[in-house]
Amino acid sequence: MVGGRIRSLAVRDLRFPTALGGHGSDAMHTDPDYSAAYVTLETDANDGLKGYGLTFTLGKGTEVVVCAVNALAHHVVNKDLAEIVSNFRGFYRQLTSDGQLRWIGPEKGVVHLATAAILNAVWDLWAKQEGKPLWKLLVDMDPKQLLSCIDFRYITDALTEEEAYEILQKGLVGKKEREEQMLKNGYPAYTTSCAWLGYSDQRLKQLCQKALEDGWTRFKVKVGADLQDDMRRCRLLRELIGPENILMLDANQRWDVQEAVEWVSKLAEFKPLWIEEPTSPDDILGHATISKALSPLGIGVATGEQCHNRVIFKQLLQAKALQYLQIDSCRLGSVNENLSVLLMAKKFQIPVCPHAGGVGLCELVQHLIIFDFISVSGSLENRMCEFVDHLHEHFKYPVVIKKASYMPPQDPGYSSEMKEDSVKQHEFPEGEVWQNLMAAQKL
Ligand SMILES: [Mg+2]
Repeated sequence: MVGGRIRSLAVRDLRFPTALGGHGSDAMHTDPDYSAAYVTLETDANDGLKGYGLTFTLGKGTEVVVCAVNALAHHVVNKDLAEIVSNFRGFYRQLTSDGQLRWIGPEKGVVHLATAAILNAVWDLWAKQEGKPLWKLLVDMDPKQLLSCIDFRYITDALTEEEAYEILQKGLVGKKEREEQMLKNGYPAYTTSCAWLGYSDQRLKQLCQKALEDGWTRFKVKVGADLQDDMRRCRLLRELIGPENILMLDANQRWDVQEAVEWVSKLAEFKPLWIEEPTSPDDILGHATISKALSPLGIGVATGEQCHNRVIFKQLLQAKALQYLQIDSCRLGSVNENLSVLLMAKKFQIPVCPHAGGVGLCELVQHLIIFDFISVSGSLENRMCEFVDHLHEHFKYPVVIKKASYMPPQDPGYSSEMKEDSVKQHEFPEGEVWQNLMAAQKL
């Protein structure tokens, strides 16, 4: 039973010192400390349930996101959960259209990351109150109610609510079998954990061999800092994984458009499936140019992890600027906005391969992509979800990977709740971890 008045919203700045080990390093982000603005919602209901939500940053940025969450909090506190979810489109719009705060967005940047953290907590609370994992809450929801969570403003030229309804209606066929398939086999994943840019060749080799032993067949390598290094690392990885397994490249926005085409052409001999984020995430026409140029080489363009909102995704799709669409559970306006992107991707017949990693991104996005398979796309062709093996131990309901696939979560909620001990230790700057690092003068 959904209910209770939200009586408090708290947000904490959590940071993990990943930069010390070179984890997460790429051509543009050389020293990331994986971090999260972590939101907790409490209600006056006597079920004792709390909602937890987060958004991901690379360290210092969390300070700014925490400010934005606090600035939005008055829209949430004292609201009744049943009222929020019965008019979720209206509530989404209230948050994203705040007359004063939208000026520093709208629906992008820090204020949108903050919106994601808050709404992720709302969805966690809703799913917990319904006693279902989030993916199952979505799968069981009536299509009309699902659509009532989506703000279609600015995308009706690409996807109308009626078209979205038809997609969901068609998705009802075979839904039960697909749910059983997910519960049995899980959703296919790929690993980014072997080949961060800051890892030595020796480390890359060891991690890759271990991943192969564990059954991984799809691998991503960071590129873009130095062409000779990239060629050596790609050659090493391709030799290790053999011709049959899948290799992907990720440049994290390093290049100009023409530079991207020339650089990736030189890596074509290693047969990558895609080049991810070749240039600025805002450059829709640039992505289209790169897509067109690389198409004869059989290399697609993947992007989305820093895509502001559904409007940019709409244009990327309209411009044929990407061949693999990478949603992110913490950058778009939570489940609500991601639903609109999944439905647009279905209409444009572009496979969704979610971005994950960081802090909790794997935990969250698995729900969205499992829902996508069961209720929207109905296909696994050319589809896989990113997996990065960091920081799962801090979550109360960590991801379960079997045979290189995400197994559907069984616990109620959005898998976004962290262990209180971890939260206390990593809170910045008072947490024990940071106090110890500062005492040891490692910072
Ligand atoms: Mg990436």
